[in-house]
Amino acid sequence: MIGLELSDEDWFKIETRLQNGLTVLSTLMRFSAPKKISLKAGLLISLMSLLLTGPVFAQNSRSAAAEEGVVVDKPSRLRNLVPADQLERSAAQQFVQMKRQAAQKNALAGDDHPQLVRLKTIANRLLPHTARWNPRAKDWPWEVQLFNASAINAFCMPGGKIGFYMGILERLALTDDEVAMIMGHEMAHALREHSRERLAKNQLTGIGASVLSSVLGLGDMGRMAMDYGAQLTMLKFSRDDESEADLIGLDIAARAGFDPRAGITLWRKMGAASKNAPPQWLSTHPSGNNRIAEIDRHLDQVLPLYAKAIGRTLDTLPPDPSL
Ligand SMILES: [Zn+2]
Repeated sequence: MIGLELSDEDWFKIETRLQNGLTVLSTLMRFSAPKKISLKAGLLISLMSLLLTGPVFAQNSRSAAAEEGVVVDKPSRLRNLVPADQLERSAAQQFVQMKRQAAQKNALAGDDHPQLVRLKTIANRLLPHTARWNPRAKDWPWEVQLFNASAINAFCMPGGKIGFYMGILERLALTDDEVAMIMGHEMAHALREHSRERLAKNQLTGIGASVLSSVLGLGDMGRMAMDYGAQLTMLKFSRDDESEADLIGLDIAARAGFDPRAGITLWRKMGAASKNAPPQWLSTHPSGNNRIAEIDRHLDQVLPLYAKAIGRTLDTLPPDPSL
């Protein structure tokens, strides 16, 4: 993490101020004395306009969710500071590198490994329900790999590169429903571009001052863009991102016919495992103590999706795994 740490609330204030400032500046540009505004200021305004007015596709999450399922907020427009295609390309390169390193240590599961086959089967059921959270997901080159390492860890990189560690499957003895909860959660981070937003915010806090004072710190931005891949594996999500990923993950999994009540059994297992040594997964996915309560509180929104997916009614659901 570079520079100072700002909370999501701080970022919201900054974004609002930037947006207000922009409106004033662009009005000035248009109506008063455009010639008096320097080239640098003009470029800064264009740059900031670009950042703050980029495509906002997640608006569909609200209208889509209005039918049924979970409801989440709009994503921060600050993420437009990091170009999505560039980030996804970096992630894909990073993934290739991880696979190569694992293969050298004989720690990359072969295509016919039963646990990898199982992961792919679960992923294929979840994938049709991802596009409602990010239309571009339809075009992502999704991929699932299994790393033979004992860490309790799993991830989904921007652009849909999914990795599971053997440790999370075996040490937590995950059921298919629980695997779907983790995979849905990880997919949600990618779909909602949480890494992109976090990198954009890091970039702004890290180089904000120098960029804004010299205005044309574009060279710096370009240089920092090269490091996305390296930063991705260390990136820590915020608690807000975690809650959002939990809810969207539940939604995706329930629509695919996985029991959302497995979210509760999963987090109990994760909690028990963290008593000995904190799972690696928890170091990048900070959780509030109320995670299970939050999932429980949202079950009413996702159990109908699950019931529909498996052709049952709410009264005839399979036994609750969390009881
Ligand atoms: Zn997470």
